[in-house]
Amino acid sequence: MSDCLFCKIASGEIPSECLYEDELVYAFKDIDPQAPVHFLVIPRSHIASAAEINAENSAAAARCLEVAAKLAGEMGLDGFRLVSNCGERAGQSVNHLHFHVLSGRDMTWPPG
Ligand code: 5GP
Ligand code: ZN
Repeated sequence: MSDCLFCKIASGEIPSECLYEDELVYAFKDIDPQAPVHFLVIPRSHIASAAEINAENSAAAARCLEVAAKLAGEMGLDGFRLVSNCGERAGQSVNHLHFHVLSGRDMTWPPG
């Protein structure tokens, strides 16, 4: 999508601190970390949110989860929270599917 921030980050048009990339997904550090470890995993293709995952694009969504687990393992994280805010009311501010990986501090439940 031409006017999407995360499409531009995945393509390299907008710089980011890349942690991992392959043909399906891109992982990078969040610009405004909410925990000592906070990175995002996104599909390269534009999917607006988790509500838009379907049979055609689910391989990219699944790869995002695979990469989140791989990076968490490589980083030796002592637990992590995996979050995808879906829709404005749930706190989604960028309309391109992304999975937050947060770690390095105690987490509360339920979320606010
Ligand atoms: P959401 O609020 O949609 O769940 O998450 C969007 C996330 O993207 C936020 O945590 C925000 O800090 C991050 N973000 C927004 N703009 C940029 C950017 O230009 N670069 C990076 N690395 N992260 C961004
Ligand atoms: Zn996009």
